[in-house]
Amino acid sequence: MGLAAAGTAGMLARPLEAFAALDPDLVVYNAKVYTIDSARPRAEAFAIAGARFAAIGGSADMRALIGKRTQTFDARGMTIVPGFVDTHNHAGGTTLLYEVLVGNPFEVEFVTIQGIVDKLKVRARELPPDTWVEGYFHDDTKLKDKRPLTVRDLDQVSTEHPVVVRHRGGHTSFYNSRAFALAKVTRDTPNPPGGTFDKDANGDLNGRVTDLARNVFANVGARPAFTPQQRATRERDGIAHISKQFVRYGLTSVHHQGGDLAAIQDVRARGDLLHRVSYEAGGQVLDNMIRSGIETGFGDEWIKFGATSEHTLDGSFSERTMALSVPYPGQNGYKGNVTESPEECNAWVERVHRAGIQVNCHANGDVAIAQYLDAFERAQTLFPRSDVRPKITHCTLINDDLVRRIKAAGAVPALFSTYAYYNTDKFPFYGEAMMAHAMAYRTLLDAGVPCTAGSDFSPGPFAPLMGIQGMVTRTGWDNTTWGANQRITVDEALTVNTLNGAYASHEEAIKGSVSVGKLADFVVLSDDPHAVDPSKIKDIRVVRTVVGGTTVYQA
Ligand SMILES: [Zn+2]
Repeated sequence: MGLAAAGTAGMLARPLEAFAALDPDLVVYNAKVYTIDSARPRAEAFAIAGARFAAIGGSADMRALIGKRTQTFDARGMTIVPGFVDTHNHAGGTTLLYEVLVGNPFEVEFVTIQGIVDKLKVRARELPPDTWVEGYFHDDTKLKDKRPLTVRDLDQVSTEHPVVVRHRGGHTSFYNSRAFALAKVTRDTPNPPGGTFDKDANGDLNGRVTDLARNVFANVGARPAFTPQQRATRERDGIAHISKQFVRYGLTSVHHQGGDLAAIQDVRARGDLLHRVSYEAGGQVLDNMIRSGIETGFGDEWIKFGATSEHTLDGSFSERTMALSVPYPGQNGYKGNVTESPEECNAWVERVHRAGIQVNCHANGDVAIAQYLDAFERAQTLFPRSDVRPKITHCTLINDDLVRRIKAAGAVPALFSTYAYYNTDKFPFYGEAMMAHAMAYRTLLDAGVPCTAGSDFSPGPFAPLMGIQGMVTRTGWDNTTWGANQRITVDEALTVNTLNGAYASHEEAIKGSVSVGKLADFVVLSDDPHAVDPSKIKDIRVVRTVVGGTTVYQA
């Protein structure tokens, strides 16, 4: 960071003529560049040297810099924006490669319950009895059957294997009878704190289990065993695979929720890491960071420790378990799941904060966001630090008081990005009154809060252009519009997806805009999102993705 910052300052001070001596590696011209740099919002061309933007300006000026070894790219009027930043992503490449996917990870697609059962039957045939058969990327509102998946459906997969279908949201799962039997859960088992065993109209288990109630399944049944070498291979392949997917959609920086740090480094060493990683540590890795004095910001421009992994305080938005101050409409007083006590939350935030690590809690509902802010304000009183930028993952449902406290804390929310397009089928569960205060980009930007785009993949698809369309229109795939008061402009949505994302990891000095001295991360788009029908923004093609001046994806 020290060297990079010095380089930036030096380059900014140099006059344009001085760059002629740079012999740029690449000159891009005839482009419509939206720089997201308020000092020079628009440009036609730029030159790249040493993986950074070295000069920015008109096509003729930049072409004048072309030297003997300079490569050139004629953008032929296409649009260029800074590389997109996803500030919350579980980056589950191993799941994409090796597991049974019962839903579409990337796009809106409806499937049938019979199709899910058939896919899982194939997997069950390969596994010995009492070994878990698992399905991933289930979305309960993307079923053609228009009814929920049940324990009886999953009994059709197998009565000898425990079967689980995981909702892509990550907070609810659906089990078969064998799974309940192994875990000794019956219709009379009480709900534990922070979770539920859901019942049908007759009071029988219906198969759905929420949040912490799922812990009873953790140590029952067998799971496929891998040697350490097999595991390492799977992790490396997973990272390399998802890196390709990220750049295909124009993401050049992604904040990873944990994951195998060694695998990420191995993939980088073999040249297959195509995007930059802000590594968000949890569990043992976080404990080891604290023990060894590793703080946020340690690493380099490709792999760097960012905030912590999301520390979960409540349930899910998409699966309707987030902690609300008022009951869910029509749910018999149910207010969602708080998954950690205020005392535990205070202790965790204080410990991380004292260690010089940027805190990051998952807080969806207004109750959970308030609990997190209580803990952060307490930690700051006990141990003041400057420019912490506490990260609020999701920060879904806000109110005026929370906005005031978020602003005062200097917090950085990572709001759901693609949900406003992808998940409108979930919004009727909350109703318009709540949706007018949910994923509140307009309110937060107006308050001067630098909110960011966190897809939460796998829960949400990660396509930034799908996210931008939802932010601009608040209209979903089903053509319904929710919380239109939270619409933002295309320019604001671009800033949210680029510069604000860089700010969230304290990297705004080196990325997030097309500015001289910053890393040359950018995306070439087939069409200008300002110019197309807003309902077609997601259909704009990513033509080329460039990271550090190197093309990592080309359509
Ligand atoms: Zn998450």
